[in-house]
Amino acid sequence: MTIPSRRTFAIISHPDAGKTTLTEKLLLEGGAIHLAGEVKARGANRRARSDWMKIEQQRGISVTSSVMTFERDGITFNLLDTPGHEDFSEDTYRTLTAVDSAVMVIDAAKGIEPQTRKLFEVCRLRNVPIITFVNKVDREGRDAFALLDEVADALALDVCPMSWPVGMGGEFEGIYDFARNRLRQPSGASKEFEGKEAFFSGIDDDALAGHLSAQGLARLREEAELAVGGYADFDLAAYRHGDLTPVYFGSALKLFGVTELIDALAAHAPPPRAQPAEPAPVEPENSEVTGFIFKVQANMDPQHRDRIAFMRLCSGKFRRGMKLTPSGSGKPIAVHSPILFFAQDREIADEAFPGDIIGIPNHGTLRVGDTLSEKAGVRFTGLPNFAPEILRRVALKDPTKTKQLRKALDDLSEEGVIQVFYPEIGSNWIVGVVGQLQLDVLISRLEAEYKVAAGLEASPFDTARWISGDDAAIRDLVSFNGANMAKDRDGNLVFMAKSAWDIGYQQERHPKVKFSATKER
Ligand code: GDP
Repeated sequence: MTIPSRRTFAIISHPDAGKTTLTEKLLLEGGAIHLAGEVKARGANRRARSDWMKIEQQRGISVTSSVMTFERDGITFNLLDTPGHEDFSEDTYRTLTAVDSAVMVIDAAKGIEPQTRKLFEVCRLRNVPIITFVNKVDREGRDAFALLDEVADALALDVCPMSWPVGMGGEFEGIYDFARNRLRQPSGASKEFEGKEAFFSGIDDDALAGHLSAQGLARLREEAELAVGGYADFDLAAYRHGDLTPVYFGSALKLFGVTELIDALAAHAPPPRAQPAEPAPVEPENSEVTGFIFKVQANMDPQHRDRIAFMRLCSGKFRRGMKLTPSGSGKPIAVHSPILFFAQDREIADEAFPGDIIGIPNHGTLRVGDTLSEKAGVRFTGLPNFAPEILRRVALKDPTKTKQLRKALDDLSEEGVIQVFYPEIGSNWIVGVVGQLQLDVLISRLEAEYKVAAGLEASPFDTARWISGDDAAIRDLVSFNGANMAKDRDGNLVFMAKSAWDIGYQQERHPKVKFSATKER
């Protein structure tokens, strides 16, 4: 099967680094939208639909990842949005299991920030290759070398500067692209990139003097030499293996570096790759249609319990109406009204290819982590649950509703909204999330959909680890720590820890037990 070109990617960043701005400009350059600013506005309209989504509105943030598609030079780009607020959720992490590469946006004034690092670690788990975009060079930022060194040191990556800013902030005179020997410069009152560019024979070209101030030119020549000589050369294999990151400097706001980024994704970012699966990895060229669900967006309409399951297509050519079997229920379903997500409108998809994302409406039959396939028998692996970073005890207001609560917690954890832990001793059920916002979503959905009034109380635990390894060693761990043991929804044994220190301590005492921060479904 010949597969049309796809680049399926996500943007990872810390809040305020400029992800939304860059997304808009990428879509604008990619021709998907005509007016920048539409991403947030349209999202707000679309989200006005259901109760719990009001939380998003109140907080002005997006709980749910969406998918945006644009085409350029014969390549279809699928950009998967990852919620960018501090209150991000497991969806943010899981979205990264459905991409083939990522763009890491960092603020030139701030460098690597906590959430950038967390998301980066998730990319590293799967060797997702990363292109770095140093944003906001139109403002005073940190020294470009210091930024490169920080990326290299903090993330243990080789860095390769692909372009260079001539000054930053008030002294910003443009961006020099090393491979093309092209200088792009601000013009007009807004000092945006409006097409002012020139090509040179190299950094030593005398003609550069006609474009830059004497100071700017001297600086560019000096810095460029150090930048090109002092860092790794671009190496496609090293990038694709997740060992090297090409770095582009730019300003999303002023349109610098944006087309360079699209060109880089087109030229270097990997097309869909073989996906880890049992009994064998699935090649995109396989003719059988397969995919996995990485996200379920529930309750678009609270009356109907509708859900949209987001499937990443891994192999084969999907056609509307075809029957696929979910690994969860094992009962084939006909996919009559799949949705492809375009920036402007949701369109009914007639066909889709590996790397594409399809929205499948359903009533709760599809779960996060499910494999869908034509013949069944395949199962994608490596779709982890991530150890929760926030744990709370669920306090029921009406004790007669225990059964409903248990059902709700099981449902919501299957859907991936929360994780639930049932302690081996006592009945203090614990919920875990990676972002605070998920807790608000939990409480409002418990009330709206299950008519269960509940509150959340402090939990004696700080984090959780899945337990595996030697049977005798596990028995030993359990015998000493009964009050710390719980089961998750699937009955897997979990160690509830009071602190990270506690985990280290137990690990030392029980070296044959494996404490895992992720659980594979
Ligand atoms: P997000 O939270 O990562 O999605 O960040 P936004 O795209 O919402 O940007 C955060 C703030 O930084 C907004 O006020 C943007 O206008 C501003 N911003 C984004 N990119 C740039 C840039 O390249 N230069 C400057 N000066 N400001 C920018």
